[in-house]
Amino acid sequence: MPQRYFVAPAIVSEAGGDRRVLLAGDEARHLVGVMRARVGDEVTLFDGSGSEFAARIVKLGKQAVELEVIAREEISRELALPLTLGVALPKGDRQKWLVEKATELGVTRLVPLVTERGVAQPVEAALDRLRRSVIEASKQCGRNRLLEIGQPQTLAEFAATAPPDALRLIAHPGGADVRTRTTGDELWAAVGPEGGFTDDEVAVAEHAGWQRVSLGRAILRVETAALALAAWWAMR
Ligand code: SAM
Repeated sequence: MPQRYFVAPAIVSEAGGDRRVLLAGDEARHLVGVMRARVGDEVTLFDGSGSEFAARIVKLGKQAVELEVIAREEISRELALPLTLGVALPKGDRQKWLVEKATELGVTRLVPLVTERGVAQPVEAALDRLRRSVIEASKQCGRNRLLEIGQPQTLAEFAATAPPDALRLIAHPGGADVRTRTTGDELWAAVGPEGGFTDDEVAVAEHAGWQRVSLGRAILRVETAALALAAWWAMR
């Protein structure tokens, strides 16, 4: 896959529209400083809207690169069946790693869960860093839609927002084998913190119609459990 660059805001390229776009910040610095791009070079752009764009460099600056959009193509590398993952985020680098791998596996939306035993406080600055990780991972894996990082919610709020016809699973040791849960065109799944969900949290989710599922006999770390669910769903 050729080098891909993320551009925001979204590219407007309808007939008669403005077909010039400006790449700024880290993306421009990478193109100029690392890739040693020249006027006339062609690159691939994406803007998170589902399309990718062939574009030619028309002007190089230190802080920004101007490109002309040559072609637009709608290319989906999304899951056939959407996945919304609620996760009590682990700390530090494990959080970033989780988001990067979730992006590669096609997770549609990730909602940080605020739980009774949670350790990481999902503040806005941390969520912005995770959104940056989504872009980096999408550049590499070729997704043209960005995994959405939602606003933090409690498990009760998350459970209540799920559509009733979605498959709704709460990962909790001792539940039914996840592989026996195969119905549904959409999955909403919840993964707890290192200390696990409390009995009250599990009871609230079950009361809202969620099913408790096991991911095997071993106790997995938060990110392993989340990615095991994502990989299982992606392969269905
Ligand atoms: N002592 C905690 C407990 O018993 O719930 C372990 C928590 S585990 C480190 C973190 C989260 O990953 C759990 O809350 C659960 O959502 C998920 N998880 C880990 N291993 C699991 C398994 N074998 N089956 C189902 N969920 C699992």
